[in-house]
Amino acid sequence: SVPLSFFGGIGGASKLGILVKGSNYLELLSKVDTVVFDKTGTLTNGTFNVVAIHPEAGVDPDYVLSNAAYAEAFSDHPIAVSVRQAYSGEIDQARIRDVKEESGHGVSAHVDEHVVMVGNDKLMAEHGARWHECDLTGTILHVTVDGRYIGHIVIADVVKDDAEQTIRDLHAAGVTKCVMLTGDRRDVAEAVGGKLGLDEVHAQLLPADKVSAVERLLGFERGDAKLAFVGDGINDAPVLTRADVGIAMGAMGSDAAIEAADVVLMDDKPSKIARAIRIARKTMRIVW
Ligand code: ADP
Ligand code: MG
Repeated sequence: SVPLSFFGGIGGASKLGILVKGSNYLELLSKVDTVVFDKTGTLTNGTFNVVAIHPEAGVDPDYVLSNAAYAEAFSDHPIAVSVRQAYSGEIDQARIRDVKEESGHGVSAHVDEHVVMVGNDKLMAEHGARWHECDLTGTILHVTVDGRYIGHIVIADVVKDDAEQTIRDLHAAGVTKCVMLTGDRRDVAEAVGGKLGLDEVHAQLLPADKVSAVERLLGFERGDAKLAFVGDGINDAPVLTRADVGIAMGAMGSDAAIEAADVVLMDDKPSKIARAIRIARKTMRIVW
């Protein structure tokens, strides 16, 4: 039988927009001492600002941006949404075919009779494209047309208002390790990590690397301690499943995330995670 106070805990959480899928997850949540966050859309806003466009010599910056916007026309990734927002022109979808999205890398598509690729160093390396870099201040989107490098776009995401307070609250609630995993560049990840007071940051990870990172951290857990992973569900369903407690954030739109998660936050405020852990700890003390 399930003690009545479990329902009190689950009910109290749900009033705050924290949906706990069962009393067992409330118990696991009360034992969390490691919280692992995905970066983009979880600790940072889902939208990036385009901060610079660096065309190759003789290339028009608008040509770089329009090609990127076309190749990203059908992607749900926050990066794609941001590139489309920065591009003021219309996108004629009839000109786009054969779109391939490679998670953790980028996208490629046929635009008219040309092949356009937009993504990071890994995508370029995988397709044997050469790239130049002159701006290391943000997330870099390299753009090629028919294998020719035409330049790169620098985008920057912004940490959420309540992210720093969340890390402080988690530490205050007895969480010993707050970790961030990201597919983004190391320097970007370290800047965010330093700003937020995270205990560990792991960068340049592919979705499968995020699963191994969580498995490694699970191996460090002592006694009854549990690990929670928090993500926005884009590319991270396998990690949500692997953690002791998978928490999907702002998951209104993503069925896969709601399905894979044990706890669903109805909005995208990281501060709700500290609230959820506090409610779980309080409920379990009542049960004991
Ligand atoms: P995060 O770990 O920050 O949530 P992802 O794993 O989704 O990020 O993506 C990691 C990296 O892969 C991004 O920083 C970017 O370089 C590249 N990438 C992923 N999707 C796209 C896309 N649609 N367009 C361009 N680049 C992308
Ligand atoms: Mg992500």
